[in-house]
Amino acid sequence: MENCLFCKIIKGEIPSFKVYEDEVAFAFLDIHPKADGHTLIIPKKHYRDLQDIDQDTLLHLIEIVKTKMKEYEEQLHCTGFTIAQNNGDVQEVKHFHLHLIPSYSEQESISSPEEIYQKLKK
Ligand code: AMP
Repeated sequence: MENCLFCKIIKGEIPSFKVYEDEVAFAFLDIHPKADGHTLIIPKKHYRDLQDIDQDTLLHLIEIVKTKMKEYEEQLHCTGFTIAQNNGDVQEVKHFHLHLIPSYSEQESISSPEEIYQKLKK
């Protein structure tokens, strides 16, 4: 969709810290992380919100969330996760996305997406 920030990220017109991609989905680090490894998982096709997205695509995104949870437990040593999804006036970007937000038993400060991206690449 024209003028959609996340559609532009998928097309590579806007840079992102990509952590996953397949034919249906794309995942990248949130630019303003609430915790280290805060990730957005999105469909490549433009769906606006939870009312709009189809069931198969939603299930596919959830499977990616589960895979990332396992990876982040190992790579980032997080101890829990929050999965969030905003709709309506609290949804800033109108392209469906799941927030995967790791939590840590001990976290003093939040690293930049760049630092986490480098850590995940190792
Ligand atoms: P929401 O309120 O659920 O629509 O959240 C949108 C999220 O997208 C926020 O957490 C933003 O920090 C994030 N965001 C906005 N622009 C970018 C970008 N260029 N790259 C990565 N994340 C972004």
